[in-house]
Amino acid sequence: MKIVILSRKSSLYSTQALVDAGKAAGHTVEVINPLRCYMNITSHNPSIHYKGESVDNVDAVIPRIGASITFFGCAVVRQFEMMGVYSLNESIAITRSRDKLRSLQLLSRKGIGLPVTGFASSTKFTGDLIDLVGGAPLVVKLLEGTQGIGVVLAETRHAAESVIQAFQGLNANILVQEYIKESKGTDLRCLVVGGKVVAAMKRTAGKGDFRSNIHRGGTAEPVRITPEERSTAVRAARIMGLNVCGVDLLRSNHGPVVMEVNSSPGLEGIEKATGINIAAKIIEFIEKNAKPGKTKTRGK
Ligand code: ADP
Ligand code: GLU
Repeated sequence: MKIVILSRKSSLYSTQALVDAGKAAGHTVEVINPLRCYMNITSHNPSIHYKGESVDNVDAVIPRIGASITFFGCAVVRQFEMMGVYSLNESIAITRSRDKLRSLQLLSRKGIGLPVTGFASSTKFTGDLIDLVGGAPLVVKLLEGTQGIGVVLAETRHAAESVIQAFQGLNANILVQEYIKESKGTDLRCLVVGGKVVAAMKRTAGKGDFRSNIHRGGTAEPVRITPEERSTAVRAARIMGLNVCGVDLLRSNHGPVVMEVNSSPGLEGIEKATGINIAAKIIEFIEKNAKPGKTKTRGK
């Protein structure tokens, strides 16, 4: 097969792992920077050009679209779909996953466990917003934050009010969330491929922090997850419409709760922590599922 990986850099661990796994399985693999693609959307023959040449005869694309290039990156994925090329994750599902509120609303509609969560942009009724999610301690998150930046634990009502007001002063959209104290600074990252959890790790926050992001000094180890955690991760992936994703869970005293579903999960941390070759599992999934014209979106 000819597989295209849409990624800005072929030197990134995840991109390289996918290239290696694809080649090891006997495929032709090309890395294409989506930002350098240009496209013809007006003809009956949608096409994509890259470095002066048309990109043809592709059997599957693996989108590795970073959050900062969601808009154009998803347009490139959609163009491949219009050409009848199978995309590992469909453009619509990637777009959906990038909107945290929309994602949480869709998950809650299907009864997935979530931390009690409120969101607001510029209400003056800060006190009522805090009551709505059960009072302090609570976690306030900037909607646009990543890697744990913009996630604050407010231990008292007074602190919560100050943090919310400070964020609102910056005109930021915020999410106010029940603090899952019993997870004790740990979370679970479940890597889902084709409706199965193929690897799971537990991340533990560095000393003095409640955020378990590796970028914030957290550490990772392999973990055995419960059947309930497994089914929560698999259902979350299905609801989001993602074939491959990372589902972040917290162990709460009311069962597993989903924090986030990531449509371009990093492979380095979890492959190193678990020793599982996830990239190879992704390639196997593509081999089973990529049939020309199989993508349903066709840009609709
Ligand atoms: P980001 O998307 O920036 O990584 P997250 O929402 O995943 O932000 O939060 C970062 C970390 O903070 C999580 O990995 C988790 O350890 C901790 N955390 C986030 N929300 C909660 C919560 N409601 N209760 C307890 N810990 C939380
Ligand atoms: N119309 C779809 C639904 O409500 C949209 C889902 C989405 O937001 O992605 O199910």
